[in-house]
Amino acid sequence: MKILILGSGQDAGIPQTGCYCTICERARVDENYRRLAPSIAVFDKWKGFCYFVDASPDFKYQLDMTHREINDTKRRGKIPVSGVLLTHAHPGHCNGLWHLGKTAIAEKNLPVYCTLEMGQFLQKNYPFSLLIQEKNIIIERINPNEEFELNGLKCTPNRVPHRNEIADTVGYIMKSKKKVIYLPDINRWTDSILKEINTADVAIIDGTFFSKTELPRFKAVPHPPIRETTELLDGTNAEVYFTHINHTNPVNRKGEEREYVEKKGFKISYDGMTLEI
Ligand SMILES: [Zn+2]
Ligand SMILES: [Zn+2]
Ligand SMILES: [Zn+2]
Repeated sequence: MKILILGSGQDAGIPQTGCYCTICERARVDENYRRLAPSIAVFDKWKGFCYFVDASPDFKYQLDMTHREINDTKRRGKIPVSGVLLTHAHPGHCNGLWHLGKTAIAEKNLPVYCTLEMGQFLQKNYPFSLLIQEKNIIIERINPNEEFELNGLKCTPNRVPHRNEIADTVGYIMKSKKKVIYLPDINRWTDSILKEINTADVAIIDGTFFSKTELPRFKAVPHPPIRETTELLDGTNAEVYFTHINHTNPVNRKGEEREYVEKKGFKISYDGMTLEI
């Protein structure tokens, strides 16, 4: 089983719309600096399944990435996704679902796993409501802290503190040979989440900002800064990959911040990165 990082950027990706900072400008001419909106694929080529966690606004490019990675010519033309697990309702995490509707691929009965609150949000709001009505997607309710199984992959959604203006937010613990935690978007770490990370083999976690000072409106959109996270997780046995990286984050370029992270043994994820699990 493998994980493919489909998008390692914050919801708006890099370059960000209308931003002309050094990183965004560089990303416009050099794809090594680009980051799509946050999502991962968990797949097993031999067992023939592939689940997306979240459906980002860059869904169509991420489908192509998945086709290239799986390289399954028999399924060419078909969607290579067996289902989508949602974390929450913020635009970078669920807006891509509309690509499953009749204005795009017109998928049939694709399972979308989400909590009760998240499902209610989808049922009440266009265009998601239409996808449900036309059976492009089927809502599969999952409950926080309750394990469910997908082709031998054991998944548990865990509620996490985040800006829940619309619906609740979960991260996922997934168990195959390894214990994996995917927690791209969170306001702050709690003791129980840190414990889960410390007992995981692989943790793909929120690295939106490097420090609290890099964005003037940090208080309105809080995330645990990488500098603090690396201290809290100092000495952990988990392989830690930061994701959901904002364009303001200095780890986007070579320099002391990136060196600091790498020296401590943590990794910055990138689009197209694969991890054996
Ligand atoms: Zn986000
Ligand atoms: Zn920028
Ligand atoms: Zn969010």
